[in-house]
Amino acid sequence: MNEMKFETKVIHVGGEPDPTTGAIMPPIYQTSTYVQSSPGEHKGYEYTRSHNPTRSRLEECLASIENAKHCLVTASGLSASSLIMHMLPKGSKVICGDDVYGGTYRLFSKVFPDIHHYQFVDTTNLSKLEKEIETTKPALIWLETPTNPLLKISDIAAISKMAKKVGALTVVDNTFMSPFFQNPLDHGADIVLHSMTKFINGHSDVVGGAMMMNSTELRDKLFFYQNAIGPCQSPFDSWLVLRGIKTLAIRMKAHEQNAMRIAQFLEQHPKVERVVYPGLASHPQHDLGRKQMKGFGGMITFFLKGGIEESRRFLENVKLFSLAESLGGVESLVDHPAIMTHASIPKNVRESLGIYDNLIRLSVGIEDCEDLMKDLEKAFSKS
Ligand SMILES: *Cc1c(COP(=O)(O)O)cnc(C)c1O
Repeated sequence: MNEMKFETKVIHVGGEPDPTTGAIMPPIYQTSTYVQSSPGEHKGYEYTRSHNPTRSRLEECLASIENAKHCLVTASGLSASSLIMHMLPKGSKVICGDDVYGGTYRLFSKVFPDIHHYQFVDTTNLSKLEKEIETTKPALIWLETPTNPLLKISDIAAISKMAKKVGALTVVDNTFMSPFFQNPLDHGADIVLHSMTKFINGHSDVVGGAMMMNSTELRDKLFFYQNAIGPCQSPFDSWLVLRGIKTLAIRMKAHEQNAMRIAQFLEQHPKVERVVYPGLASHPQHDLGRKQMKGFGGMITFFLKGGIEESRRFLENVKLFSLAESLGGVESLVDHPAIMTHASIPKNVRESLGIYDNLIRLSVGIEDCEDLMKDLEKAFSKS
């Protein structure tokens, strides 16, 4: 299947017509169990927590677009992250980027600290990270690149190499780029993780997660924990993602085209202090981004001139950009991380990372770009 291009894979891998009826769309196998002809004799499916044909189709498609041998689809992005932590032997050391998704930070700092040891470090500083890896000898390095919300980019190839030297696994949360713009396994990572809730499904109507890997041993270990613990995705949700994923390529292109224009518009706007977008030459890791990614995505972070009051007025006056958590849907969203998505990170930690009260995050949708810019302009005039 790998000779197909991305645009073809999202439509055809896992999208074969139903062999029994010819239905062009995959059936939703809304079943919990499967009949056996004799004890232990079945067609590869026993119980839906373990396997489901609709979910298998989605896993096949996702593995192919991440250039991976295997994929496991989970109930949410965070349940995938939890399974990776359950797989590590008790007392493992984990080095994690210091600007990760708020829920990842909460999971590591509030749920798992009695089981493993976590160190949160700036993974964009390679020389410092290398020393940290050599002294700590972690079992696993957790990268999110670009990060949420500061869009910092870490060098996946260089860090995977450092990790391998000490026998550590490298996990990359690739939610922001989607498999269309970045394929971490090609750069040496061991596991790629996605919140499918975001760009992969793309329609803000499903919560889901996925992990892709080439190692069969890793796949089997993670599958054991998934089956033993139980965070599987429902057949209907897997079916919805199979539907959404067909347009992943064209959606990502449209997200990026709009985001690039809006980032440029914001960069010259008098009410804006600073814009962070990997596609702008002003982004501190723009060159690394060009090398490691195939595009720059649909997420923009900017700092409004002023503080919490100006931000509040701006956020109350945007109309097309809906004020909501989450990202990656066809509709544009705006988020205030300090109050919303990153509130679980203490204020002093937040500010030491650069998440100030005037930081606003945009998930640029695929609406008409002029309409989006008019909406922002109107809100600026009232902020
Ligand atoms: C949303 C998100 C997650 C968590 O995924 P859920 O599907 O909400 O559990 C993890 N990482 C990133 C970067 C995210 O944006």
